[in-house]
Amino acid sequence: MATILVTGGAGYIGSHACQLLAGAGHLPVVFDDLSNGHGASVLWGPLETGDIGDRRRLRAVFETWRPEAVIHFAGLIEVARSAADPAAFYRVNVAGSLALLEEMAAAGARRIVFSSSAAVYGAPAVSPIPEDAPLAPVSPYGETKRAVEAMLDAFARACGIDYAVLRYFNAAGADPEGELGERHDPETHLIPRLLRAALGLEPRIDIFGTDYPTPDGTAIRDYVHVSDLAAAHVAALDRLAGGGGSLSANIGAGVGRSVQEVLEACRRITGRSIPARAAPRRAGDPPELVAATGRAARELGWSPRLSDLDTIVATAWAWHAARGA
Ligand code: NAD
Repeated sequence: MATILVTGGAGYIGSHACQLLAGAGHLPVVFDDLSNGHGASVLWGPLETGDIGDRRRLRAVFETWRPEAVIHFAGLIEVARSAADPAAFYRVNVAGSLALLEEMAAAGARRIVFSSSAAVYGAPAVSPIPEDAPLAPVSPYGETKRAVEAMLDAFARACGIDYAVLRYFNAAGADPEGELGERHDPETHLIPRLLRAALGLEPRIDIFGTDYPTPDGTAIRDYVHVSDLAAAHVAALDRLAGGGGSLSANIGAGVGRSVQEVLEACRRITGRSIPARAAPRRAGDPPELVAATGRAARELGWSPRLSDLDTIVATAWAWHAARGA
């Protein structure tokens, strides 16, 4: 049994990862300020509350738990907000990651898995996107992820830290056992918003861009089930513990789905009408983002199992419908 420090472990993806870590026999110690996470989602180990930028607090947690490895989910996630308030994003995502890495190095913790994002690719020229595509973020959010990737590489060389950078595409769905799901406030992700509209909690959904060069004119994204995503973290920890060395890998389904297709799947699976209307494109939203997933398959032995659109929507709907929210 290994003790794993999970920053942001009270959040959406982090809580699902803790569930799988515990299932794999590890103790997940969550470090979270609960600004966008939920204490009630911390079910498989202790919760240490604190700000990721607070080095004294981090030091105390490293001294108490002596984790073998860290999974670093904590961060601010709303792309649009990053344009309005870049300072908050650089403070939490970049300075917070620096504080964590310095305390890891001081405590002798030598392995980290980091939540990066497809946002590091910006508006790529190729699809599916391989990991060696140019990193050209188009939002401060994506810039912060690129900056942390570079920082990890420098710490790897200087301090002997091994890292796994996982570039997630669109996390979606909910724990098939129904214990966990997606709860963001505000909710900006497509599927939970569609399901909230199905429940009558949102009047209608705006479809941002219906004139993209795609078959139905709406933007195409790669939706990966959150439990598949969580499994990639366990695989990444195993690789690092086995001396496999640092890597950066896309984590996606490898399949693109348009906004219109997702809307239709939500209508079909919920059996409810979901009012939607066309709206202008949002700045910085590329037509298509789909992962090339060969590296994750080869290097992590990982492949998605629950990431077909119907399973994603059905598990998310079970969660939202059960809570009525
Ligand atoms: P989330 O908001 O549900 O989880 C993030 C957690 O970090 C929350 O529990 C929040 O309380 C915590 N946190 C925020 N600021 C903190 C701070 N200053 N100190 C301590 N804890 C803090 O988000 P998520 O969707 O689970 O995303 C997790 C990670 O994955 C993020 O780093 C995000 O950028 C990345 N990511 C997510 C997606 C996606 O589709 N959801 C895609 C790509 C990358």
